[in-house]
Amino acid sequence: MKVISDPLEIQSLLTEPLAAGQRVGLIPTMGALHEGHLSLLDASQKDCEFHVVTIFLNPTQFGEGEDLENYPRTLESDLQLVEKRGADLVFAPTSATMYPTGFSTFVDPPRVADSLEGERRPDHFKGVCTVVAKLFHLCPATDAYFGEKDFQQCAVIERMVLDLNFGVTIHRCPIIREPDGLAMSSRNQYLDGLERERALGLSRSLNVAEQSVTEGTTDPAEVIEQMRQVLMDARVDKIDYITIVDAATLEPVGEITSNSVALLAAYIGTTRLIDNRRLNS
Ligand code: AMP
Repeated sequence: MKVISDPLEIQSLLTEPLAAGQRVGLIPTMGALHEGHLSLLDASQKDCEFHVVTIFLNPTQFGEGEDLENYPRTLESDLQLVEKRGADLVFAPTSATMYPTGFSTFVDPPRVADSLEGERRPDHFKGVCTVVAKLFHLCPATDAYFGEKDFQQCAVIERMVLDLNFGVTIHRCPIIREPDGLAMSSRNQYLDGLERERALGLSRSLNVAEQSVTEGTTDPAEVIEQMRQVLMDARVDKIDYITIVDAATLEPVGEITSNSVALLAAYIGTTRLIDNRRLNS
């Protein structure tokens, strides 16, 4: 496995596999890797012959007062993990190379970025779209892998790829959870023992939503209220949002259908967690 930080090196390293007609899979990450990230690499192994993992803690997607400073940085163990799981190339650039002095060009995110995370985290998706567009340019992969853990991000990237004519196929991968249901996240490292317990409220509320819909509930307000109750019982510190939207448009639905997804964001202490579940009625 090759590890590089110079953006100019990537294209030359991909010339050979691409010329040989191989599919090249790209897995963009911010590091502090866990099984959720590694599942994207596994998905790439199924489709592609060459696998590129990028590890870049992208400052432009963090807002004022968010956790950029404290975000876990574990490059050495990240490299060991992806090497074991079959990555061929890791691109781990510095901020200074990705955003050189004078950098001032950004991607204006699509409309699907306006609500939910985009509403609560102004400029978050502007940073995401900009860095992902740069990665797509630097690394002319045939395929790229994203997790549905960040459900809205998947929709935003898919729309950007369509709108800006990137020639890469986007793959959505399912959420990987801890055995007790907590969605894996680099931010789970912030939680102490009791907070970790309370964080289970998120996946439990999604279980309740799924169950309720399975039993025939189609009124989103009713399901959202049930979810809110589970989160309150779990003593989460603040519910940022709970919503049920259409999976394609991310617009709130009037009635739950097989195309609906429940999304939520909540604080446990100062840690903000997100989770979601497709509701198949
Ligand atoms: P991040 O390092 O948080 O930017 O995540 C990099 C990629 O890994 C994104 O596409 C995430 O959606 C994906 N990811 C993070 N956590 C999970 C998870 N628990 N299951 C599946 N994918 C995940």
